[in-house]
Amino acid sequence: MYTVPKLEDYSPEALDRAVAELFSALDAESRDLHSESDWKAFHDRWLARKNGVLTQINDTWLKAAPGPAKREVGRRVNELKARTEAAIEAAQDKIHASASSTKLAADRLDITLPGIQRPIGVKHPVLRVMDEIVAVFKAMGYSVGEGPEVETDYYNFESLNFPPNHPARDTQDTLFIADQESKPARDRLLLRTHTSPVQIRTMEQQPPPVRIVIPGKVHRNDPLDATHSPVFHQVEGLAVDTNITFCDLKGTLDHAMKALFGSSVKTRFYPSFFPFTEPSADMQVSCIFCGGKGCRKCKFSGWIELLGCGMVDPNVFDFVKQNGYDSSKISGFAFGMGVERIAILKYEVEEIQLFYEGDVRFLEQFA
Ligand SMILES: [Zn+2]
Repeated sequence: MYTVPKLEDYSPEALDRAVAELFSALDAESRDLHSESDWKAFHDRWLARKNGVLTQINDTWLKAAPGPAKREVGRRVNELKARTEAAIEAAQDKIHASASSTKLAADRLDITLPGIQRPIGVKHPVLRVMDEIVAVFKAMGYSVGEGPEVETDYYNFESLNFPPNHPARDTQDTLFIADQESKPARDRLLLRTHTSPVQIRTMEQQPPPVRIVIPGKVHRNDPLDATHSPVFHQVEGLAVDTNITFCDLKGTLDHAMKALFGSSVKTRFYPSFFPFTEPSADMQVSCIFCGGKGCRKCKFSGWIELLGCGMVDPNVFDFVKQNGYDSSKISGFAFGMGVERIAILKYEVEEIQLFYEGDVRFLEQFA
């Protein structure tokens, strides 16, 4: 630490040396400042009125100088004071600058940091399967039709050959809209139990030929269990033209199943009953898990029942006869499948509820 020496020799050379010594000490001390409080101590040490280095210089050098040397010493001391004050001020600026550059460094945008990642959603497995099914039929020239989920009794039942009070209505546990009793039966509203109403709505709007697939949500008063849900999805199809036969139906569905499950899948058709088709059939595919050998999934039969289908009943065409659907001239087939059922098979999902619970751990597996 610098202490102010007493001067014996007041020659210019001796003064130069003393001043140079002082400045080198000032310089060294000012380089060693790291904080505002360091600087404060430094400032006081040099500039304090009582016992500061400059005060000591005044007392030790100037006051003690012999008469003839006083003028020269005074000039140097003034110069030295000005330089010291400037150096102390510069040291303060340096401290401030380095503090604010530290702050700047903290605020600086580091473009190499990874950004905030927002997970991008993926298509829900049910929607994905629905789109897949639709795409298979679009590739065969089908267009896509949609219709309302709140339907009238007429479109959901009557025009599809479910006459009022027909027992076949009981097989579709229907959810009715409340307070409809004052309306005529055919106008009463319900939640559609199948996407089939869109078949009639389409035929009302366009004359034959028709090739259409109808994806959508349907509702039934079914209690929730491993394979049933009160809300589920269907894809229906309708093809109407001259000379459409059951062979066209079989060929179309066989192709669609191969497109969905792989070319080794086989199909077979069993007689069934639906009010809107005659003849009606259930279609089975060879088990996609065991290839038809028999396993737990296919209950050791080698086959899995997948959809209902049939030739459009002439009674259905009669409801749209005035729009060109004369059952003596045209024919058609229709089919309908449950999307969840196919999704369960494709993804080997244990319970249908998993599709609706919105559990991200389940849904992430389809990302
Ligand atoms: Zn099997």
